[in-house]
Amino acid sequence: MISSVTIPPPACMLLPLEVPNRYLFGPGPSNVPPRVLAAGGRPIIGHLHHEMYEIMNDIKKGIQYAFQTNNHMTLAMSGSGHAAMECAVFNVVEPGESVLVSVNGVWGERVAEIAERMGAKVHTLVKAPGGYFTNEEIEKALAKHKPVLFFLTHGESSAGLAHPIDGIGDLCRKYDCLLLVDSVASLGAAPLLMDQQKIDILYTGSQKALNAPPGTAPISFNDRACHKMFNRKTKPVSYLFDMTHLSNYWGNDGKPARDYHHTGPVSGFLALRESLAILAEKGLENSWRHHKEVAEYLWKGLEDLGLKLFIKDKDLRLPSVTTITIPDGYEWKELLAYMIKHHQLEMTGGLGPSIGMVIRVGLMGYNCSTSNADKALAALSDALKHCPKRKA
Ligand code: PMP
Repeated sequence: MISSVTIPPPACMLLPLEVPNRYLFGPGPSNVPPRVLAAGGRPIIGHLHHEMYEIMNDIKKGIQYAFQTNNHMTLAMSGSGHAAMECAVFNVVEPGESVLVSVNGVWGERVAEIAERMGAKVHTLVKAPGGYFTNEEIEKALAKHKPVLFFLTHGESSAGLAHPIDGIGDLCRKYDCLLLVDSVASLGAAPLLMDQQKIDILYTGSQKALNAPPGTAPISFNDRACHKMFNRKTKPVSYLFDMTHLSNYWGNDGKPARDYHHTGPVSGFLALRESLAILAEKGLENSWRHHKEVAEYLWKGLEDLGLKLFIKDKDLRLPSVTTITIPDGYEWKELLAYMIKHHQLEMTGGLGPSIGMVIRVGLMGYNCSTSNADKALAALSDALKHCPKRKA
């Protein structure tokens, strides 16, 4: 018989899957604890089975705790942090509306582009990576641009900055604007209180301090945000991220039945539930304290190696992701490649505007310990000894 198959099975597919065991000490994903990996390896059940709805209800409660919010409109996106970013912007902004984005690293750049793509009038407040915005600067821009949405990154992982939040929610209310905060890199690692700090929309990712596999992203909308997004004149540009559908899928819309919208990442949700359970058992305040203590230990160790920290003010440093100024004379890519090769340990360079400025070390959740800080310091010290210094 003449075969209709003309393309043979690829040789690589006939070999077993190989995945190296590495220390993931970059800005994420971080190593996933066995308990969370095991949860993700449990049997698949239907995404519309009542047991799955119970698990999704648990996830909602876990997110409400992690975010410190009573918001009913709380769920996890089927997608990474970018899915939550797009969901927030697509649902509350209509084409032609004014959006104000603070840009002090790559995340503001991304949100500005997302808002621009869906037809918003985008205004930016810009600082160099590592810079932050005073409440006076923010108020001036709110008064000038009259945005419907103001975006701020709490944990600016490309620069290693933890942005102050207090007072900004009040300003946004004064100017009738929604406050959208990105906590992908900071949730569970640095204090953040959604309701008390009057954040209207907050999102995070699964793969940072929560230590779940990448691919799900908790998000929450308060009543102000719900009022705006459920009274719009146009439909959001994305079907997949349309909150009228997602709120039904998550049982948030008060309707008796949840209809099929998309097939949620069942294993990802099981793992996310377990990671939220670990955070609930540990306690948020313990988790914040622990990240700060380990970060301070790491910062001291880095300074003892003669390295300079990129964010000078300790109070503005992100405890989960530390940025080191690239040491004089070294090629940052060589330092990183050396650590992967000889220590099986990942750190990363900068991202967007911080490329070529910093090396980033992340010790988050399960990875956050002084013994892991020692491993990171030993790898860096070794790399500094063995990588050539090229410039004067
Ligand atoms: N925001 C911040 C602050 C981040 O650190 C990241 C991930 N590095 C993202 C958003 C995007 O998340 P994801 O890669 O999961 O889409």
